[in-house]
Amino acid sequence: MKILIVEDEPKLITFLRKGLEEFGHEVTVSTDGETGELFALSKTFDALIIDINLPKQNGFDLLRNIRAKEVHTPAIILTAMSSLSDKEEGFEAGADDYLVKPFEFKELILRLKNITKRHSGETGSRILKLGTLTLDLNLKRAKRNDRKIPLTNKEFELLKYLFLNKSRVISRAELAENVWEQRFDTGTNTIDVYINFLRKKIDNGTEKKLLHTVVGMGYLFREEKDLP
Ligand code: CA
Repeated sequence: MKILIVEDEPKLITFLRKGLEEFGHEVTVSTDGETGELFALSKTFDALIIDINLPKQNGFDLLRNIRAKEVHTPAIILTAMSSLSDKEEGFEAGADDYLVKPFEFKELILRLKNITKRHSGETGSRILKLGTLTLDLNLKRAKRNDRKIPLTNKEFELLKYLFLNKSRVISRAELAENVWEQRFDTGTNTIDVYINFLRKKIDNGTEKKLLHTVVGMGYLFREEKDLP
């Protein structure tokens, strides 16, 4: 994911950047509330991590301003301010979550995952479509043309993730983190095995393949006969 951090404490910035990049995220940092707002307004981020006490403009005002301009990027407030009234103000300003410093990095990751999941689930229909393949998120059922495709739970989660991230290359590490919620050793082939199961189910016997391997990079889910 692309994550914007608005934070003015250098040590914390370094810590957050390093940790998030290890999880495969792309990090942009802004050290004051005004620049942070401008970055957030660009709508190019998947999640925002926002401090409250910031130079130029505080985090509450930043959030209020971007929400007023219809920017609904999931946002988590990360602050030392721990009173209930601060939390209330944060949620009223438009935060999706609120985490008090000091915090466990793992908890930040879990909360980020949660707010971005909730967000992507909100958008649009509960039936996802790509070409002749459909995935019903309520019934957890897939169909290709009119052929029903039985899926295991894990295959469903994997296919859903592919749908929500179609038309871009998805690395194995990203799938491990988001579908298996763990980080595999680089040697394991669990993901390839699942991808192959899924590919057989959705693509076998069809003219237009949907699930492509991008050698050395990962997978690409989109409608075409061959990769360019
Ligand atoms: Ca601060």
